[in-house]
Amino acid sequence: MSGPEVRIDQLTGGRVLIAPGRAGRPVQFESRGWTIGELGSCQFCEGSEAETPPELDADRPDGGEPDGPGWRTRAVPNLYPAAVPDDSGGDDDSGSTSAFSSPADPLLASARGGEPDMFVSRPAIGAHEVIINSARHVASLGELEPGELEAAVSAWRRRMMAHSEAAYVQLVLNQGPASGATVEHSHAQLGALNLVPAAIARERERFNSYREQTAGSSLLGEVLREEIRRGERLVAIDDEVALVCPWASRFAYEMRLIPRRPEPSFERDTVGAAMLGRALAALESVLGGPPQLNLWVKTAPRGVEHFHWHLDIAPALEARASFEMATGIDINNFSPERAANELREAIA
Ligand SMILES: [Zn+2]
Repeated sequence: MSGPEVRIDQLTGGRVLIAPGRAGRPVQFESRGWTIGELGSCQFCEGSEAETPPELDADRPDGGEPDGPGWRTRAVPNLYPAAVPDDSGGDDDSGSTSAFSSPADPLLASARGGEPDMFVSRPAIGAHEVIINSARHVASLGELEPGELEAAVSAWRRRMMAHSEAAYVQLVLNQGPASGATVEHSHAQLGALNLVPAAIARERERFNSYREQTAGSSLLGEVLREEIRRGERLVAIDDEVALVCPWASRFAYEMRLIPRRPEPSFERDTVGAAMLGRALAALESVLGGPPQLNLWVKTAPRGVEHFHWHLDIAPALEARASFEMATGIDINNFSPERAANELREAIA
């Protein structure tokens, strides 16, 4: 490609400006002095169990008491939750209409009953958990041995399954200060929500309409088939999953891990941990050090049969700037084809 391009993300319909002319191989992409902090004062390390709220789940292969040592992964409530359990004592809402049964935007709703409410809020009901990926103090998920990473991904899935009553369960991981992480020790976070985020709902709608247009095909399945055929954004593939740099990558070296069999729910599936480990190692090799990154899973909302989960990795190399904030359109100065080339060379 020569000039800048507007690309449309197949899954979200979102627009991205791919503008590689704006930068050569940018110096700022070199690993940015991410220094590991002081040890011995970490509330997520083995031995510091008393410093967290009581655990919700732990993987203790050799047994042991809850909130004691001997674990591989451990899940605890977030001390600063963005959503909290419903303590109203059931679904007996006292209001005239349940806030939870009317998710529509009141500004768009008919104003028959009077003025629309301009200042809408409702309690953020749900759960917010931390899943500690290892008892060892590792700051980067890529430092985990394959068996440890497998255990961590299994713990993510287990906790997501524990919230199967939620409308949507979002699993994320922030790594490094540039990603928004505030605790160094590697951990994922889970948000169990009583709503389906607009971005997920949009993706689901596009899956549905593609399915209707094509008499049953999976949108992401078809994208993947074409990515494998073209090869230019394919980084690696095994029997279970493929790794690609998405067509409309919003970030340099963005990667998407896609199960080859269209499985709606990440948490009910079992594949992907091995490829995730390879992806992280390749990224570390290309960037010259442990990457700061954002990672998230998109999985089927509750009750949705037709979806195709994927796990996305976005290195935190550049801050979101004003244009992105104003327009919602990301500018990516590094083409996914070039990223895939480098990552393909580096992946083991
Ligand atoms: Zn630690």
